[in-house]
Amino acid sequence: MNEKIEISNSEWEIMRILWTLNKATSRQIITILEAKLGWKEATTKTFITRLVSKRYIRTIKDQKAYIYLPTVQEQETIDTQLMTNFDKICQKHAGMTLAHLIKNVPLTITDIERLEKLLLEKKKNAPEVLPCNCLPISQDKCTCNKCDGI
Ligand SMILES: [Zn+2]
Repeated sequence: MNEKIEISNSEWEIMRILWTLNKATSRQIITILEAKLGWKEATTKTFITRLVSKRYIRTIKDQKAYIYLPTVQEQETIDTQLMTNFDKICQKHAGMTLAHLIKNVPLTITDIERLEKLLLEKKKNAPEVLPCNCLPISQDKCTCNKCDGI
């Protein structure tokens, strides 16, 4: 799924529950979010309805309860969401932003080994400098205040 993800911060809370449990009734979701974030039943129901109408979750009707299931994969959705954020920032800042993330996010040995491999691979074809891509630039000269006219 390469479309833009439009899941609000509040709606993400519901997605996290459904990704973790695979499926849940509205009662379960309401109970979890009341305990975790102190949300009122009506608040949670509003966000569930929004996610259904945005088609990020779907409903099946059991005997007496509605059961909600995610329609999008967790990792894929996180990746797309993150790339949406990276698309918003200057490419000159992307490296520092990633370094900040790596410094502050908990990682396992396996995660770190995967990153080390990736970085070595990426280094083979990395440019010396990346131009600022914030303004429409004439091919030869950037006019932003961060580059020296790359
Ligand atoms: Zn820039």
